[in-house]
Amino acid sequence: MEYRVGHGWDRHRLEPGRALVLGGVAIPSESGAVAHSDGDALLHAITDAVLGAGGEEDIGRLFPDSDPGNAGRASGEFLSEAIRRAAEKGWVIANLDATVVLERPKLAPHREAIRAGIATLFGVSAERINVKGKTGEGVDAAGEGRAVEAHAVVLMSRG
Ligand code: MG
Repeated sequence: MEYRVGHGWDRHRLEPGRALVLGGVAIPSESGAVAHSDGDALLHAITDAVLGAGGEEDIGRLFPDSDPGNAGRASGEFLSEAIRRAAEKGWVIANLDATVVLERPKLAPHREAIRAGIATLFGVSAERINVKGKTGEGVDAAGEGRAVEAHAVVLMSRG
């Protein structure tokens, strides 16, 4: 059995009156992501992690924000394409661990829905998908509520 680790990170600016989507789940919030796509920082970080494990280019190269076809696009489509590319090379997910840094609202009430949605995209049980929420302790962009950040590590295997 061969293993590859992949890492991804993303950040989106938050502004009042915009939609907040994380892990494919619409989260009621006073402010949401400024983005060309749906601004799902968590799925963007996971997409980059999968692409990284497969030795592919990053999400910005595959789905440039200069392409009008990517405007408002659901980020699950980006992740599905990354998973498809990895699978073409024989890579399947062993597990995923991700952290979302968001000052408010709390992610906890949405955690299981997010895990289930991501597991569906990978075609595995939610037991392989972990998502944690943290605040930014009131400092820096995320802590001041001006941004949402996501970090993801994925382990892929083929054998
Ligand atoms: Mg992004």
